[in-house]
Amino acid sequence: MSSAPSYNYLLKILLIGDAGVGKSSLLLRFTDDTFDDHIQSTIGVDFKVKHTTIDDTPLKLTIWDTAGQERFRTLTSAYYRGAQAVLLVYDVGRRETFDNLKLWSEEVDRYSSCKEHIVKVLVGNKTDLGSSQVPEGMAEEWASSHNCIHLLSSARDSVGVTEAFSATVRKVLATP
Ligand code: GDP
Repeated sequence: MSSAPSYNYLLKILLIGDAGVGKSSLLLRFTDDTFDDHIQSTIGVDFKVKHTTIDDTPLKLTIWDTAGQERFRTLTSAYYRGAQAVLLVYDVGRRETFDNLKLWSEEVDRYSSCKEHIVKVLVGNKTDLGSSQVPEGMAEEWASSHNCIHLLSSARDSVGVTEAFSATVRKVLATP
């Protein structure tokens, strides 16, 4: 019996950024359409699989979440290996989480096996809180100097989440 896969592409996507910016919440909103105000950080890298269709292309996405490991700065090459894309997440209400993306982006470049090709997407999360400490122009400038797309999201209100993952996939599929 044939066991041909039901998808055309298998993509590995990473969520990166400081603790508390909402990486797990973005993942759970995208994969399960749920949100938890009291989400617990668990120890150990975790990932979820989502089958989806974007622009008529069936895809299997494995989306990796640091699950608290970023606190210890112990993400290693295994986490990055084979990843086609990374969502660099900051909290729009906490300026330092944006400033720290410089370090995270450097780490992506250091560890990723295909650093010239890895797609980076900048995501400013928690827009529902209303008070941004990161001027949009500054984020746009950072994004263009790092060859990223920039999007804003609220995992809580389910705004911009599907868009962030769709934009990521589109850019991966358009990257040679
Ligand atoms: P992680 O450490 O980056 O994975 O962040 P979490 O997903 O664990 O979220 C940290 C905290 O921020 C939790 O209390 C979440 O409920 C909250 N949170 C995550 N996303 C949002 C959002 O879009 N809006 C608001 N208001 N809170 C959020």
